[in-house]
Amino acid sequence: MVTHIEQIGEASLSRAKAILEEGGAVAFPTETVYGLGADARNDAAVAGIYRIKGRPSDNPLIVHVHKDYDIEKLVYDDRPYAKKLREAFLPGPLTLVYRSCGAVCGRVSCGLDTLAVRVPSHEGAQRFLRYVDMPVAAPSANISKHISPVSAEHVYEDLNGRIELILDGGRCSGGIESTVCDVTGEYPVVLRSGLVSAEMIAEVAGRCEIYVPKSGEQVRSPGMKYKHYAPKCSTKLFDASKVQLAVDEFKKLTAKGMNVYVLCEEDVKAFFPKEKVLDLGESEREMAANLYELLHEGERLADILIAVEPKKKDGIMAGVINRLTKACAEE
Ligand code: AMP
Ligand code: MG
Repeated sequence: MVTHIEQIGEASLSRAKAILEEGGAVAFPTETVYGLGADARNDAAVAGIYRIKGRPSDNPLIVHVHKDYDIEKLVYDDRPYAKKLREAFLPGPLTLVYRSCGAVCGRVSCGLDTLAVRVPSHEGAQRFLRYVDMPVAAPSANISKHISPVSAEHVYEDLNGRIELILDGGRCSGGIESTVCDVTGEYPVVLRSGLVSAEMIAEVAGRCEIYVPKSGEQVRSPGMKYKHYAPKCSTKLFDASKVQLAVDEFKKLTAKGMNVYVLCEEDVKAFFPKEKVLDLGESEREMAANLYELLHEGERLADILIAVEPKKKDGIMAGVINRLTKACAEE
């Protein structure tokens, strides 16, 4: 199969719609990362997404809709605070998990009685979703466990030959996946951190908890148990308080003849040779926006990537640290 990268326009959208109607999958840009979308009502199409990505079959998908779509066609919207969250943050990088009313095929949620719904703010994503006029199930457009794609070229690297069409909407501005927030209970619970922080949600809803699985409990967001976002090169992660250990490791590996790069925040980069630093930047938003781009660059350049965890851990950084930790995890 030949994979085409096309700018978003009448011709490419019409082609995308035909592919989805035939049960195929199309990659499209969002403000977080690129998604791999298929018709959420078509079981074979949804199965195709899992096959293309090599995604574990118990990791549910998020359904994407345009901003005027009536979500009550898909879910029971029975919590007043959920409306407040939609008004405050949507369209945008916040996915809400509702009780499903069974309108999409069961495979989207892997048999759970809930459904995750997202309304992306990216203009190209909105155009695409409005044009195809269907609920689109979409995980990130990468091979499972690899770094999420933040450009059409990243999608091509992973999915070349596996899909027909990548809609090109430039580099994603947000950089990490949406926050996933369960709105089925009395108060919102963050299942996956992202650009809309738990603190921001609490401000609007009055209360918000961050889900931490108890040992032995079945995880509420199945995707969280897997290694994820990983570059193909080796990685080593150091805490911000252990910069000296990272410096020692850098010297040791370099002396062995290895090509070592360091991924770190602005404040820490002076400890390493300038040409070996992949600079995450300074502000929380910059670090989120740069993370996957730099992990992609790291795997291209380095034998081994040393990552120094940024100092700040809360707010948006909870999401950045979560992705970085998983990217550098053993398995
Ligand atoms: P990805 O599509 O790779 O960005 O991952 C989607 C994330 O949303 C994963 O962490 C899933 O576990 C989570 N998710 C999707 N649907 C549900 C659901 N119905 N309940 C809980 N988590 C969900
Ligand atoms: Mg993913």
